[in-house]
Amino acid sequence: MSISKQEIIELLNTENSQAQELRKKAYKIKSDTIGKNVYLRALIEFTNACEKDCYYCGLRKSNADVKRYLLSEDEIFDLAMFAHENKFGSIALQSGEVLDKNYVKNFGKLLAKIKQKTNNNLRIVLSCGEQSKEVYKYWKECGGDRYLLRIETTNPKIYEKIHPNDDKHNFQARLDCLQHLRDVGFQVGSGMMVGLPYQNLEDIADDLLFLKEFDIDMCGLGPFIEHSKTPLYEKRNEIPSRDKRLQLALNSVAILRMLMPDINIASATSLDALAKNGREQGILAGANVIMPNITPERCRESYNLYERNIAITKKNVAKELEKFGEQVCWGKFGDSQHYRNRK
Ligand code: SF4
Repeated sequence: MSISKQEIIELLNTENSQAQELRKKAYKIKSDTIGKNVYLRALIEFTNACEKDCYYCGLRKSNADVKRYLLSEDEIFDLAMFAHENKFGSIALQSGEVLDKNYVKNFGKLLAKIKQKTNNNLRIVLSCGEQSKEVYKYWKECGGDRYLLRIETTNPKIYEKIHPNDDKHNFQARLDCLQHLRDVGFQVGSGMMVGLPYQNLEDIADDLLFLKEFDIDMCGLGPFIEHSKTPLYEKRNEIPSRDKRLQLALNSVAILRMLMPDINIASATSLDALAKNGREQGILAGANVIMPNITPERCRESYNLYERNIAITKKNVAKELEKFGEQVCWGKFGDSQHYRNRK
């Protein structure tokens, strides 16, 4: 479906019953196109180490209050086997950005081992930041299937304001990485934060249109949530209210579903940080993926991209969704239909 930028801005701004209508429409498009199905990705936050210093993120290198951890290869492997045996269909291996050559090599070997031990019956989603094209190619060959790299904002001026001005943080490099991921054959996911300081509705509309234009296969978008140990916390009085950010994020999910009926859209955990049933609301606005967290509990408090209540990571969202008549697809890969259609 094609929607003009002006229409998107108007839809983003809808509230109350009009917003409910928008989300119902998107939910129907989802149900008609890819079914009332919700796919699972067992989330493994395997390290909170990061070489970057994004101004919005609690894992930024300069945050000395974070207790850093790295799960051993055996632990990650065991968690992957747990996900496989419990029919999650996919795992999502998520980390900060680590570029060390040994880590890159060993991580690739681990992907290959997981693929081999599961007879290629487990999809692997990676979310490990910006890497070189060679690294992406290597990880793809080792067994990675999908890669999520959020653009966060497509406005270079906002990008500059929410990142340090140095070689490690470069807007064009982020765009290049997305292209490299596409070139080496990953199912490519991207997304953005909604409700950032400096951001207006036009920016969010541009972000949504970028996702369509880049022809993404999957999306993870969520509300911006301030973290007290980050520089952007200073701007907390200049952003929309928590409820407004929740509504904007849900409207964004609905609009993206209308723009791209057959992609995979994750209902972000950050929605739960703003409402008790945030992720359920995300599914009812057109999302079709949830990511139950299977990271060992001892690590979860240390993986705070934003400040979150530990209970969020333990919630049994699959059970909640079944109450809404959604079919939670245990044992299914849930590849992006959009990716399959493009191929
Ligand atoms: S957003 Fe990602 S790259 Fe930036 S500091 Fe956080 S974990 Fe690192």
